[in-house]
Amino acid sequence: MRIVCQFSCGAASAVATKLAIAQYGDGCEIINAYLAGEHADNRRFLADCEAWFGRKVVILRDEKYDADPIEVFRRTRYIKGRQGASCTKRLKRDLLRTFEQPGDVLVLGYTSDEQWRLDDFQEAYPDRPVVAPLIERGLTKTDCKTMVERAGITLPFMYLQGYQNANCIGCVKGGAGYFRAIREDYPEEFKRLADVEAEIGPGAYILRHRSGPLKGQRFPLHELPAGKADRKEWLPACGVTCEIAEQEYTS
Ligand code: SF4
Repeated sequence: MRIVCQFSCGAASAVATKLAIAQYGDGCEIINAYLAGEHADNRRFLADCEAWFGRKVVILRDEKYDADPIEVFRRTRYIKGRQGASCTKRLKRDLLRTFEQPGDVLVLGYTSDEQWRLDDFQEAYPDRPVVAPLIERGLTKTDCKTMVERAGITLPFMYLQGYQNANCIGCVKGGAGYFRAIREDYPEEFKRLADVEAEIGPGAYILRHRSGPLKGQRFPLHELPAGKADRKEWLPACGVTCEIAEQEYTS
């Protein structure tokens, strides 16, 4: 039986992995899907965590799109919709499938305030063996960041900038406040995403007006109005559980 930890270069998945290793030892496999859109400092964080774990992380890397979300959008002419984000589907799910074995126990990095996510997962997949070490121990996201720092590891650079995740720079799961922050901090990455969005056309627009006469209508990133940048905006994690859940409606 394998205990599979999906390490996503975030603090919660780091602590969940560390706890799983402490509990299950050699039965643990740690995997990470490399994403070219992430900040380069995520790789430094991964290396620091490998030293903390005392174990190597198996890196899976998409070759078809060179692990680059922008390349996925350009070639599939689709960014995201009701069926989820095309980047997570193309850059993670297929890779993770190549790694899966029957009977794997999945380590979920849900924090104590995310019990509802665990409930949803178990309701959807009652036969899928899982453990949720952070919920079992009542650990929050803040606890996890503190534990990582106490281990002498510097958090990923985007956390230090105030972001709540270490997702790709300009993650398509973000909202207007998040994208204003990305436009300020990472203008080149913002432009690259805005350009491909414009190239594909209105059906690909990520953001919608939240109020006013245009409420509900989509608008392009290139027309994102000035306003408050929000680095603390909560974004869904881009992890294995999302991929498994997405299989429900994208297979
Ligand atoms: S972090 Fe965001 S942009 Fe990157 S692959 Fe995941 S959903 Fe896509």
